Amino acid sequence: MSVVLHLDLDAFFCSVEELLDPTLKGTAFAVGGRADSRGVISTCSYEARKFGVRSAIPTAQALRLCPHLKLLPGRHGVYGDYSRKVMAILGDYSPVVQQMSVDEAYLDLTGDPRPGREIAATIKARIRADLDLPCSLGVASNKLVAKIATNSGKPDGLVIVPAGDEAAFLKPMPLDMLWGVGPKTRAHLTALGMKTIGDLAAWPTDDLVRRFGEHGRQMSAASQGRDDRPVVSEHEAKSISAETTFARDVSDAAVLHRTLLELTEQVGQGLRRDGLAARTVKIKVRWPPFETITRQVTLPGTVELDNEILAAGWALFEQVWKPGKRVRLIGIGVSGLTDPARQLSIFDAPDQGFTRRRKAADVIDRLRDKYGDAAIQRASLAGRRRRWVPPAKEGDSG
Ligand SMILES: [Mg+2]
Repeated sequence: MSVVLHLDLDAFFCSVEELLDPTLKGTAFAVGGRADSRGVISTCSYEARKFGVRSAIPTAQALRLCPHLKLLPGRHGVYGDYSRKVMAILGDYSPVVQQMSVDEAYLDLTGDPRPGREIAATIKARIRADLDLPCSLGVASNKLVAKIATNSGKPDGLVIVPAGDEAAFLKPMPLDMLWGVGPKTRAHLTALGMKTIGDLAAWPTDDLVRRFGEHGRQMSAASQGRDDRPVVSEHEAKSISAETTFARDVSDAAVLHRTLLELTEQVGQGLRRDGLAARTVKIKVRWPPFETITRQVTLPGTVELDNEILAAGWALFEQVWKPGKRVRLIGIGVSGLTDPARQLSIFDAPDQGFTRRRKAADVIDRLRDKYGDAAIQRASLAGRRRRWVPPAKEGDSG
């Protein structure tokens, strides 16, 4: 059973502004664009919310609702600094943190022996103690319910939904608490006589599909508290890769292996520089003239050392290459990037041998940084001129 924690900072920009200017506390103020330049409200204080001011409404409208509203232009560099500090704290409590925005993140707590409530309370207290920022948290068996739990407890909330209680928890909530139910859909559902998420959960799925298509099926599942989206850390969507195109096509196994080793060293160096390990190794091969294939393998654990990455990459290569076959381009990459400290390498238990080899890799990386790539080479590379291409980074976080 999964355990997901969702965290959202309360009125984040306003909370930071209050730290910088405590006289703002308890007053109606907002961060947003100016009314005379068609600005909108970015965030507003809870005092301003009492007057009906909300995020995303035009500033002109906000000033009509609350004429004494104090408008601040916002200091996004400062907010970014606080956001990074919050995310760093979250990283201490789970290896899988999915940052959704500047003030919102999911943590995968699955497998953690401590109760979710205890971890959530610790995080809340630490963000308060270290940064003096208020936040709300929700813990549930999936992202959908955890986020609704957070929202239901705002501000300064901590709401736990025990596994099995998802549908019962959602049942009395208004429809617009549900992900995917915007004003238009809500109006449609209201016209059918539904008021709560429970009403939607009780409605026949077939009828919702008939009326709303696939969206109807999703809403039906969501209303019952079902959601199977995984928590995916930002790194996992990214990859580090390097490739090279030969000036002349190559069919010599030794040359191909050496080249793959060179490229692997670039990838491994990038991985270690970012303090990451990888779960997936992939290769890219182009046969002349242009046919390009990729193959990848997701490993049962993580890899971070060059020889581990190379072993997986060469095994993939041997699956597609026959001796004598000419190769125009070869590349290797890693993805599924994660924190190496939290998981065991698939090749080694964290014994002394592993630690020693990891240290050796660190030393090699430091020497390369200091003296350049020519300073240190593996035996099989000695005497060969090296061509270095900065490791390409591709992909984006989801
Ligand atoms: Mg927030």
